Amino acid sequence: PIYLDHNATAPILPEVADAMREASLRYRGNPASQHDAGRQARRALEQARLRIAEMLGVRTTGMDADQLIFTSGGTESNNLALHGLQRAGASPPPADPHLLISAIEHPSIARPAEHLAATSAATLQTLGIDAHGLIRLDELTPLLTPATRVASIMLASNETGVIQPIAAAAEICRRHGTPLHTDATQAVGKIPVDFQALGVDALTATAHKFHGPLGVGILLLRHGVKLEPALFGGFQQAALRPGTESAPLAIGMQTALELWQREATDRRARMTALRDQFEQTLLAGWPAAVVIGGQAPRLPHTSNIALVGLNRQALVMALDLAGVACSSGSACASGSSEPSPTLLAMGLPEALVSSSVRFSLGATTTPAEIDEAARRILNVCNNLRRAG
Ligand code: PLP
Repeated sequence: PIYLDHNATAPILPEVADAMREASLRYRGNPASQHDAGRQARRALEQARLRIAEMLGVRTTGMDADQLIFTSGGTESNNLALHGLQRAGASPPPADPHLLISAIEHPSIARPAEHLAATSAATLQTLGIDAHGLIRLDELTPLLTPATRVASIMLASNETGVIQPIAAAAEICRRHGTPLHTDATQAVGKIPVDFQALGVDALTATAHKFHGPLGVGILLLRHGVKLEPALFGGFQQAALRPGTESAPLAIGMQTALELWQREATDRRARMTALRDQFEQTLLAGWPAAVVIGGQAPRLPHTSNIALVGLNRQALVMALDLAGVACSSGSACASGSSEPSPTLLAMGLPEALVSSSVRFSLGATTTPAEIDEAARRILNVCNNLRRAG
């Protein structure tokens, strides 16, 4: 089968698996232990922490270790950021606290935001999206009030790949004294991400989206940002995220990011060329097709295409049988039959929402795979039309 669902997870690269195997056998102590085995694991872990921070544009001189918190992945980092920044806000809290998210956040931001609003009697505000999939930046200033305790806007959409103007949003939030978190889960390891230049207070990334291991993510924090923990227990990671740290997982994430960095320019150019070729072939073979978010800045490897006239779920199932793995709807939650909230927030017509399928490429995707995938997709489209 041809795997075009890298936004769901990008399979681990052999170099990463090798580095993790070696680290698992070499670092056998608990990084919190006082003995030599513990100290060795601690050193490796701290080195991975620094390297990852450095590659993401964190100024590491004077960096506190707790400015990069290892977590179990994007979902945990997002929850920690929202809860942690909201709770650490001004004390005493405002009488009518607000929190703000964009209309296209991943469920790991949208659900905790709803939960937080319900349990802390806060007002949840939503920043709108335009038809290209971009946040309505002009609506941000009027939404921010002194009572806005935290804002969260993703850096790039998992569904459309559209890249948001986060540095501009951060500038506006800073002027209003609102901490801004960005979910950079789909951007890290695909486009250059510079934490300092973005100017955000907190940033989420997860290794399995860029060919690293499953089960490890990070939350980056600007120097001096206050965060309340969501878990309680030990004193690891300044008690902000207690629990035994894993040097092999941290090294796996570091290695995947290093591999990306080494070939970043090549990988980006290759993926963009493959994606463009793929889209042109589909548009030529299915003239009613529309590339969603195609007019906005996009990630190089994400292609959300409305195959107008067909049904997205029927398409995903038929494509699976034809040996092409892709996704539709609220993509990560595969099996979900709900129409995509992202596409609905863009105000797209029903004909586009109900026929949209997401194809996402990876570092190992080849031109031959892309040609063959496009051929199979057009076959499936024609068969479905005849059957329908
Ligand atoms: N945020 C975005 C934008 C995602 O696409 C995902 C993917 O699942 C997540 C967060 C959650 O990350 P994780 O699977 O590491 O929990």
